[in-house]
Amino acid sequence: MGDENTGKIVTRFAPSPTGFIHVGNVRTALYAWLLARKHNGKFILRIEDTDKKREVEGSIQHIMDSLKWVNLAWDEGPDIGGENPPYLQSERLATYKKYADILVEKGLAYADPYTPEEIDAFRKKAEEEKKPFLYRTHRPENPSVWDGTKPLRLKVTPKKYQWHDVTRGELEAGEEAVDDFILIKSDGYPTYNFAHIIDDLLMGVSHVMRGQEFIASTPNYLALYEALEIDKPELVTMPPILGDTGGKKMGKRDGAKDILDYKKEGYLPQAMLNYLAFLGFNPGGEQEVFTAEELIKVFDLSKIQRSGARWSDEKLNWFNKEHMKLLPASEIEKNILEWLPENMRDVKLVPVIFERISKWSDVKDMAERGELDLFFKTPTYQKEKLIFKNSTAEDTKKNLELAINALSEINEDNFTQDTIKDSLMSLADKLEKRGAMLHPVRFALSGLDKSPDPFTIASVIGKNETLSRLQYAQKAIS
Ligand code: GLU
Repeated sequence: MGDENTGKIVTRFAPSPTGFIHVGNVRTALYAWLLARKHNGKFILRIEDTDKKREVEGSIQHIMDSLKWVNLAWDEGPDIGGENPPYLQSERLATYKKYADILVEKGLAYADPYTPEEIDAFRKKAEEEKKPFLYRTHRPENPSVWDGTKPLRLKVTPKKYQWHDVTRGELEAGEEAVDDFILIKSDGYPTYNFAHIIDDLLMGVSHVMRGQEFIASTPNYLALYEALEIDKPELVTMPPILGDTGGKKMGKRDGAKDILDYKKEGYLPQAMLNYLAFLGFNPGGEQEVFTAEELIKVFDLSKIQRSGARWSDEKLNWFNKEHMKLLPASEIEKNILEWLPENMRDVKLVPVIFERISKWSDVKDMAERGELDLFFKTPTYQKEKLIFKNSTAEDTKKNLELAINALSEINEDNFTQDTIKDSLMSLADKLEKRGAMLHPVRFALSGLDKSPDPFTIASVIGKNETLSRLQYAQKAIS
């Protein structure tokens, strides 16, 4: 079984279709994908849909769309098939039954005779006695034949387990961590605990990458590998992702967003991948901006960190901006224009906007906050605000006039940021304080306490509008 895969790196991403997948899930998929790609192995998408009560309609498609967005292509999966189909656990019930029967025959699995209420009562009693609840202490002596109407449980041999985890090192647990867990539920579906082990075996999975919440159940998995007389795959526990404040693990409930929300916000998939790769992994060295191909080259299991990795929107934005800078100018222009309201689609704004954004939706936000209005509407303002600190109305009026005269000299075709800057700076430099000229010019053009520099604004709005705004200001000052 799985012999043909010996030595081959096979990883899988095995989400349950219980809703959207968040950034943490995608990071798990990414590490599994990177490992497979690095070793020319195989990356499998398997859908673990055995808990019918928790299933959310549409999630399988949503999961596939999410992986596709970040370009994590799977080699085998529910939509494309593969060597070991099917890839939906709900379609593999006969396979689980086959292995369940093997265990029954070996005397290593038995029908659970109790009702859920009876088991609850055992659990309560253990709690009252302040003892850990262990089902196996109630194991029936002569269980009835398993006919599928009762849960099937594994009969474990209680003992201590020690095992190796690629990121956590040597782990161990006492015999209280092993119990007769359910393999097949009374509804005929296997538990995760059983199904994933059978699937990993049949699909030749060499490395299981998953969250730390599975460490506590690992002794049970080890008991099952032993019962089936199979080798365990390498276990790789992913570092937890901590919320922005660094304390708590980030989960769906506390801010872990649907990965496709980032798509909607105009993040670049290649930046998301780069950021997620670094959330718990570091290849060493100075370089931080990596393409997916480069990540494949440097990915190394031994460099996955063990401790939690803190989520940071700020860092994600930084990665996004770095990847945006790598885009061809035409693509930057196209995106910025598309994200602008139709009446603001002016190419001259592209560089101004690009300097101020870290994701495409920032363009929309800037427009909605009115930060671009100054490029389209003559501003209104309190005229006193034209005067630079410690300057006078008289000087301001004079400096505005100098600016008007100088800018009038520039040919309309040559009215660029550089020529405007040269012209205004040579005047401003002659003054005791440059601000005495640059402030009123900037303020006259924008009407805002904070705005892009006056050269940028002037070049975007053009010579006529620039002169008209300056003249208005010059006259307004009395
Ligand atoms: N179906 C499990 C989950 O969504 C996957 C755990 C695993 O990768 O084995 O949590």
